[in-house]
Amino acid sequence: MPGTLTMGAEKVYETIILGGGAAGLMTAAQLDDPSAALLIEGNAQLGAKLLVSGGGKCNITNVSVSPEDYVSDAAFVTSALRAFGSEALIAWLRQRGLEPVIRKEGQYFCPESARQIVALLEKASREIARKTSCKILGIERMESGWRVKTSCGRFETKRVVVATGGISFPRLGATDIGYRIAESVGHTIVPPRPALVGLTLQREQAFFKELSGLSTSVEITVAEKTISGNLLFAHKGISGPAVLDASLFWQKGRITIDWVPGFDWEMFRGSKKQISTLLPVPRRMAKAFLKHLEIEDKAAKQLHSDEIARLRSLNAYEMAPAGTFGYSKAEVTRGGVSVAEIDPETMESTLARGLYFVGEVLDVASRLGGYNLQWAFSSSFVCSRACSRRKNPLH
Ligand SMILES: Cc1cc2nc3c(=O)[nH]c(=O)nc-3n(C[C@H](O)[C@H](O)[C@H](O)COP(=O)(O)OP(=O)(O)OC[C@H]3O[C@@H](n4cnc5c(N)ncnc54)[C@H](O)[C@@H]3O)c2cc1C
Repeated sequence: MPGTLTMGAEKVYETIILGGGAAGLMTAAQLDDPSAALLIEGNAQLGAKLLVSGGGKCNITNVSVSPEDYVSDAAFVTSALRAFGSEALIAWLRQRGLEPVIRKEGQYFCPESARQIVALLEKASREIARKTSCKILGIERMESGWRVKTSCGRFETKRVVVATGGISFPRLGATDIGYRIAESVGHTIVPPRPALVGLTLQREQAFFKELSGLSTSVEITVAEKTISGNLLFAHKGISGPAVLDASLFWQKGRITIDWVPGFDWEMFRGSKKQISTLLPVPRRMAKAFLKHLEIEDKAAKQLHSDEIARLRSLNAYEMAPAGTFGYSKAEVTRGGVSVAEIDPETMESTLARGLYFVGEVLDVASRLGGYNLQWAFSSSFVCSRACSRRKNPLH
């Protein structure tokens, strides 16, 4: 194998990439000397999460991506986004025959199916050796590099790129191996938690259950951030884009929901129409909230001032979610390997030479809209460039 050293009977790879998701595949695709590298993936198939992302069409990135879009250290994410931002990513994909399309709110998707981007990444990284259906168990530092322990043997390498993602969606192969590898060399792990996930309810919101399936436009305020979008009443709690985005900032405690953002109460007060037809929410929902507020569904102009005051609480409904739907439903993991110990120009550990972290395994997360995949691709790009430049990772 060109570029691969042989010590005794064992090959020594230039680079071993752990994880064949978005970040691992992009790292592989950008290496100058892929024939000297190995990619290891636990699933039989590469890019399992990519295939289900964006409802099967993969929301690849966004027209506008900036460091402020991320829950992380903005200074840390800046260099990777500058080096390979959304324009560069789109140009790179176009050069390889994929023409992403903007579907909504600046979000780029695959034109037909997420399979298209997985096929493109597989093709772009085809020269790299692969071991699939192979569980990564850990790494060991050696005098001149690293030994990777897996369910299909041990492999030696000069450098290791950890692209094993977060711990969301274990059914698609997610494990905590990236965190364990990081901890084994002394890295700090920012406590992980599920994000972009639905929220479960306390007893006071038991009446939401009967609204399951309804969707309405809301504004949610959490941790001093206000998020607009749709909320979906789900069987287990509340979900939908606004709730998923809010979950990124929620840890414990109260959130405030404006069920009728911008509603004109003055116009409403003088109306002869029934309250449930005037409120800009599904009728079944209006009736349930009226019952909860102990207000009869009558002509709006018949409302007493104390009833109006109670109704106006719909602009600032406070509730404390009981928890989240958990990792099995969370689109991302917030937290992970602390970026304080990673070089933002290369994604290399500042604690262990020759060890790199890319993608969601790092403490970088964002809202819906293509930002999480953009991060996976940007961080992988700078890592690959650094690996290709530095022939000897130990110097
Ligand atoms: C349902 C869903 C929809 C999403 N939609 C979007 C979207 O449209 N746009 C967007 O920007 N983001 C989306 N995301 C988030 C996005 O998919 C992730 O942020 C991104 O895939 C992270 O890339 P990664 O390569 O870091 O991790 P992953 O894609 O998770 O890849 C990590 C890989 O490592 C492998 N691995 C882990 N542990 C081991 C082990 N011990 N041994 C061997 N292999 C291992 C895994 O099998 C996996 O293939 C979505 C996520 C989900 C779950």
